[in-house]
This record gives sequence, C-alpha cells and structure tokens, in this order.
Amino acid sequence: MKRILSLLVICILYSCSPKIAESSSSVKKDSESINYEQYNGTQENTVLAVLWLQMSSEYKALCYQSYELARLQLDQSLLNNKSNKPLAIITDIDETVLDNSPYSGKSIETNKGFDYESWDEWGALESAEPLAGAVDFFNYAASKNITVFYISNRKDNQKDATISNLKKQGLPFADAQHVLLQTTTSNKDERRNSVLETHDVVMYIGDNLGDFSSVFDHKTTSERHKITDSLKVKFGTSYIVLPNPMYGAWEYGLYNENPYGISEKEKDSLRKAKLKTY
Ligand SMILES: [Mg+2]
Repeated sequence: MKRILSLLVICILYSCSPKIAESSSSVKKDSESINYEQYNGTQENTVLAVLWLQMSSEYKALCYQSYELARLQLDQSLLNNKSNKPLAIITDIDETVLDNSPYSGKSIETNKGFDYESWDEWGALESAEPLAGAVDFFNYAASKNITVFYISNRKDNQKDATISNLKKQGLPFADAQHVLLQTTTSNKDERRNSVLETHDVVMYIGDNLGDFSSVFDHKTTSERHKITDSLKVKFGTSYIVLPNPMYGAWEYGLYNENPYGISEKEKDSLRKAKLKTY
C-alpha cells in the first residue's frame, strides 16, 4: 500500500509538472526505496492536496455548501436577533475567503517549504482568488447590515496588499478597521474580544479550528478530537468550516507537536507512521 502511494505521488509529479520531473530524475531511479541522501523532497507530500483544491469540483461544491449553510444560519440569526448591539461575522481569510493554492503550487515547483519571504511575495501580487460562494455570501451579509471582520494570521506588514486583494475581489468591509492581522500573537482571542466589545458575533468562519476558539490551540490530536466532539453543536451553526487539506494546525499532532525541530526525513517517517492501516 505504502509503495503504491509513493509511486502514485511520483507519477503525478512527472505527469503534471515538467519542471519538477526534470529536476527529480533521481527520484525516479530511487522510487523503489527513496534515498534521502540524494532526494531532498520537502513538498511532494502536498501534491495531491493542492491538486484537489485546484482541480476537484468536489472542493468547489464543498465551498458552495459551506457558504450556503452560512447564509441559512445567518437568516436564522436575524430572525432570532434580540441584541441591541450591531451584529457581526468574524471570518478568517486564507483558505476561507481567499485561495492561496497557487502559493502551495509554487512551493512544490521550487521544492521549498513555507517561508515568509516567498509568502510576502505571493501576497504582494494581490492575486489570490476567492473561494466559491464567498463573495456572494459576504455581500449578502453586508446587505443585511451585518459587519464583517477579517481576523487573519497574515502578518501586519501584509495589511495593505491584503485589503487591496479583498477589494479587487469585491469583498465588503475591506479596510483597515475590519481587517485585523497578526501583530503580536497568533492567538486570535484578543482580536476576537475587541470585536465582541462592540458587536454581537453571530458566526465564525474558518478553515482551522483556531479560527473559532483558542481552546483548540497547541493541543494534541486526541485533545483536539475531544474538544471538537464537545463542541459539535456549534459546527454548521455558529462555526462554519471550510476544508483545507494543504496545511493547518492539525499538522502539529502529525509531527508530535514539534513540526519545526525535525528533519524532512523524520517528518516523512512520522507521516507514514501515523497512517491508519490494517
Ligand atoms: Mg485560514
């Protein structure tokens, strides 16, 4: 099974990316048993995830489904609203409103992992496209006098480019007051609380559980599962989740809560070791 998976990934690398195929001739030779001395693959494990986002209509359908569910819940919130505060939605940006899969594609092409230099370069292009259904949903919310706050862990130096990208795609409330990026901590509580001081938040939207509550931050896989079970009534009601197989906080559990201190070889071993099989 493991051997079939390895071969499948390598076949995709060859058939879809001539550049990678050219630079990875040693991979083909070593496909029976990857030689990590010769092969410094860092990104090949994300190929299928990125292609799924870019090519599968199922992903597009899931995005439409998430935003349709959000609209239904929003209508319900408006019917039940007894608040004397203005209402708001808090949404994440990356892989929730904007699709950064071209950045991940580039990371595969160049065989480099995530780094802030290349991430800033991508952000500065202001060319990320919206997820299916996102623009219509947020404009619908705005038409119902719901304020939208974008709370993202993009760094604050990307603020102008991020606002510009959102604006170009026709998203409402794309301005400095409503786009709250990371200045000190990746924990979003402080920014969420600042919104809650003035607004009643009817809904949170994100692709990572930390977009909903900090109770999910820095937890093991089993802890995250337990918390998710305990909060199950919120999913699909006040928490709307978008799928993102490319990256996320779930990887901390994959790499035993220490993704930064281990080599690519160790990561590969851990990925294989974590597979459920029979
Ligand atoms: Mg995100």
